[in-house]
Amino acid sequence: MERIGIYCSIFQPPRMDRLAKASEAAKRLGLNRLILLPLPGRKDPGAPELCQQMEMLRMAAKTVDSCTVTTEAAGLAEAAVRIETECPGGKLFLLTEPWDEDKIEPLSAHWHRQVLPQDEEVPQEQLRRLAAFRCARPLLPAAIADYIEENRLYGFSDEYRHLSMDRLEQVVVSLLKPNRVAHVLGCRDTAVKLAKRWGANEVDASRAGILHDITKALDGPLQLTLCRGYGILLDAFFTQNPKTLHALTGSLVADRVFGENPAVVEAIRHHTTGKADMNLLEKIIYVADYMEPNRDFSGVEKLRQLAFEDIDEALKLGLTMTMDMLRRENRQISNESLEALAWLQRSK
Ligand code: FE
Ligand code: FE
Repeated sequence: MERIGIYCSIFQPPRMDRLAKASEAAKRLGLNRLILLPLPGRKDPGAPELCQQMEMLRMAAKTVDSCTVTTEAAGLAEAAVRIETECPGGKLFLLTEPWDEDKIEPLSAHWHRQVLPQDEEVPQEQLRRLAAFRCARPLLPAAIADYIEENRLYGFSDEYRHLSMDRLEQVVVSLLKPNRVAHVLGCRDTAVKLAKRWGANEVDASRAGILHDITKALDGPLQLTLCRGYGILLDAFFTQNPKTLHALTGSLVADRVFGENPAVVEAIRHHTTGKADMNLLEKIIYVADYMEPNRDFSGVEKLRQLAFEDIDEALKLGLTMTMDMLRRENRQISNESLEALAWLQRSK
């Protein structure tokens, strides 16, 4: 008796973890044949056309070695009815995943539903960000990663280099979590005001301000994925405090993906910890991030006032407040912050 499975998923794009799960299930269920069938996904910018999706699915099929794997572009109900007629008496399985359940059409009683385990999987949304940052390769079959790059899918685009301010804002907003957008725009506007006040380059301030948290949507493990993707070796502080990594990874993305100039890149690099010998733009981004209009904590008014009177004093206050908080929470303080404060105290 033939044992046939249909594996339905959004496959945007087909990814190693889901293919491995499907392969494992095919083995467990003793399938002779597995059919990969794409569910319609969201139409994100850069999402592939159906023909491109099927091309990638055919590549994905080659990575599953536990049975014969084919692909199917038809709707699920249609494919199911066809298989029922082709293989009367066959044992039929429908493989799905918990997050796709609401998109699955009801099938006849011949189909045994197998929900694949929902374990620690990189969410689709994060995969799209990693692709935009050119770091999705470790999560995809190599042929599919190549195809995505060649066809500029999922936000993988050279057009991110040297964007106009309007376009930069659009792209940044599409890569942030919605609850971070106001902060980032507030930081940009504040940075421009401070640049005007202190005679720094306003364009650089604006670009560094809007890009400073560009990788913040990626959680700790994905920050480490990004570093691996960029070939960066991390010191102990970063591996123990992956949250602070977004400054480093943000600067790498600003440089390699957005093609920003070194002044902008460096200002992003040092926006969470500061460092000794900060230049004017670096000070401005550090302080703007701390005091932009959406910030609300005791002491913020003092900081806002100081920022326009004495930028070094504002920087010193910001560093001191951060270090006090880290001490209270028994968290490690970076050497760069300690050196920044010592440098400010020396230069007064
Ligand atoms: Fe930040
Ligand atoms: Fe920030």
